[in-house]
Amino acid sequence: MNRHPDQGVYMNNTIKTQQQPDLPLNHSEQLLHELQVHQIELEMQNEELQRARAALEGSHKRYCNLYEFAPVGYLSLSAEGEIIMLNLTAASLLGVERDTLLKHYFIDLVAPKDSDRAYFLLKELLRHPGEQQNFELMFKRGDGQFPARLDCLSLMPDEQPPVLRIILTDISESKRIEQELRIAAVAFEAQEGIAIIDANKIILRVNQAFTIITGYSAQELVSQPYTFKSARHAENFYTNIWDCVERMGSWQGEIWDQCKDGKNYPKWLIVTAVKNDAGSLTHYVCMHIDISERKASEEEIKRLAYYDPLTTLPNRRLLLDRLHQALASSSRSHKYGALLFIDLDNFKSLNDNLGHDMGDVLLQQVAQRLISCVREGDTVSRQGGDEFVVMLEELSEHAEEAATKAKVIGEKIIHALNQSYRLTDHDYQNTPSIGVTLFINHQLSIGALMKRADIAMYGAKAAGRNTLRFFDQNMQEAVSARAALEADLRNALTKNQFQLHYQQQAHNNGQIIGAEALLRWQHPQRGSVPPLEFVPLAEEIGLIVPIGHWVLEAACTQLKQWENDQRTRHLQLAVNVSARQFHQPDFAEDLRELLEKNTLNANRLKLEFTENLVFEDIEDTIAKIAILKAIGVSFSIDDFGTGYSSLTYLSQLPFDQLKIDQSFVQNIGIKPADTIIVQIIISMANNLGMDIIAEGVETEAQRAFLAFHGCHNYQGYLFGKAVPAVEFERCLRR
Ligand code: C2E
Ligand code: MG
Ligand code: MG
Repeated sequence: MNRHPDQGVYMNNTIKTQQQPDLPLNHSEQLLHELQVHQIELEMQNEELQRARAALEGSHKRYCNLYEFAPVGYLSLSAEGEIIMLNLTAASLLGVERDTLLKHYFIDLVAPKDSDRAYFLLKELLRHPGEQQNFELMFKRGDGQFPARLDCLSLMPDEQPPVLRIILTDISESKRIEQELRIAAVAFEAQEGIAIIDANKIILRVNQAFTIITGYSAQELVSQPYTFKSARHAENFYTNIWDCVERMGSWQGEIWDQCKDGKNYPKWLIVTAVKNDAGSLTHYVCMHIDISERKASEEEIKRLAYYDPLTTLPNRRLLLDRLHQALASSSRSHKYGALLFIDLDNFKSLNDNLGHDMGDVLLQQVAQRLISCVREGDTVSRQGGDEFVVMLEELSEHAEEAATKAKVIGEKIIHALNQSYRLTDHDYQNTPSIGVTLFINHQLSIGALMKRADIAMYGAKAAGRNTLRFFDQNMQEAVSARAALEADLRNALTKNQFQLHYQQQAHNNGQIIGAEALLRWQHPQRGSVPPLEFVPLAEEIGLIVPIGHWVLEAACTQLKQWENDQRTRHLQLAVNVSARQFHQPDFAEDLRELLEKNTLNANRLKLEFTENLVFEDIEDTIAKIAILKAIGVSFSIDDFGTGYSSLTYLSQLPFDQLKIDQSFVQNIGIKPADTIIVQIIISMANNLGMDIIAEGVETEAQRAFLAFHGCHNYQGYLFGKAVPAVEFERCLRR
């Protein structure tokens, strides 16, 4: 057995002391024993050594792991700035293999924009050993860059190398968060008001816009409960908002709130719930967008769309809307409502004579009076022009009672609109015609109801105006008949269904001085339609213009024929002209051309028209009469006494003849007033130097009376009816 030189010493020192209490052995045994003990001890020491080494290795390994894989990069630099040591994290942060980096100049890893600064900072550190500093630099990595924080420690000279230890931390993530926070901060101070509130709806933060919108300062708001206030919403409106946010995560809509000064204002509110990772609600973000301006323009648009600008009454559109609702509510309540269609009588002549401004003033006053005649819940609307519609609701469950109530209000309206109006410096009188129809449920469509009220209004007009008429079935039939007539009338000209009949005009001495041309319509089914049945319709729909033109042409042709005959050459032909036809801008010119074309002596033509035509446009009448009189045409006022002539104008207008209306003639000797009127008309015409003729003379007594009072020209059945030209000529020969 080999003995280590030290083992003996060690053995002597230790074994001796242990061996002292033992019993004496012989020398070799003792030696052996000692050796065995020694061996055991050695083995034990060896094991201990092994354990110590293993522990050392373990801790070295742990140290290495900690060093290499630390969350930050470690680098050691030489005095020349070369990297002499670095951990794996540093290499991976810089994106380069560790071996490549060794002996590499640290400064070369810094991004160009920071390399000068880095150079000076590091140099400064090296000059002050023991100093510690940290700063941020951009580093190159692959094609890009990354921001890093450097914690540097400059070492004492006796410790070198290395001279500088650096901890490198990638701060990209914190930079990004910082940037996001900055963006969030800018966004928070946006145009929109924003409040951040906690789960208990206590305000944590508000931005400036929020304080401007609400009028409260941030100090007044923060730590206070977040609430709304407005009488415009029921209390549960706000509760519903929070319920919705809780369920759906957000809510948005228009709400009314009150600002500090008590003013109510509209805003668009967006509430968004913020939840934590665990999914529980932590905050709400409430965004307020001021929509006062938008609201105001919306209101304005609505006003323009639904209200009449002149009278501020609801317009047709809004009325139809409300009628729709009224029908629905009448079907629930089973109560009748009524529509009153109101049209002002003779509004057009006010407009023509006093101007549109006066017309407007009248319409505004009518609107006010209508409103004062109805209850709060009723609707007064303007349809346009001089047409108004009043809608009365919930009148009664019984049609008769509802009708009575509607009639009472209608009459109240008539009374109110009959009071004289003050139009700046004019006192003005006007009357309405009112058509009424009842409604309940959805029995009839809105269009049909409006039509009924309109028809009833025409009924009121036909009944003499300034009155009220209810819609009834007969009216409906009359309207349908009228529609059919209108359709036929539109084709009558092209189908050559018109004809002129001639009624003689005679002188007291028995001589036939002329004739009146009277229009006849030969309808294929109805036979001869009298002019009173279609002329007013033709006037209304404008067809009178082409029809009247045809009449004038036919009359000229007839006159031309008469010119060629000894017996008819002297006859003057009277032609009826409608107002609408006469007031056509080119009426006079057309007629002149027509006379020229036929090379007719214009003295043979007489135009008849009513007083009303004159007063619809006096200036136009005077001008046209002047043009036509200059070429020889003469003029007669038809139906004299039935219109509302102004005697002043009459004396100024160059009429040749007055035609006493047949209604007076027929009342001669029957109605004393009419008898006197006849006398007055005759003496007036004589005084004005005008010719006079009486129409509708049926009896010898009438003729004698007229002759006695100075009227010597007549037209009437006593002399002859209106007949076709052939027959008329036959009469002449007799
Ligand atoms: P008017 O111009 O006053 O014509 C006189 C009307 O009285 C004619 O009716 C004529 O037939 C009728 N009449 C004549 N003598 C008597 C009589 O002794 N007793 C009675 N009861 N009636 C008599 P008519 O032909 O039905 O014409 C009615 C109206 O139609 C005319 O009234 C006129 O205003 C209009 N009218 C007729 N033809 C035309 C026309 O060509 N153009 C225009 N615009 N209107 C016309
Ligand atoms: Mg006539
Ligand atoms: Mg007449």
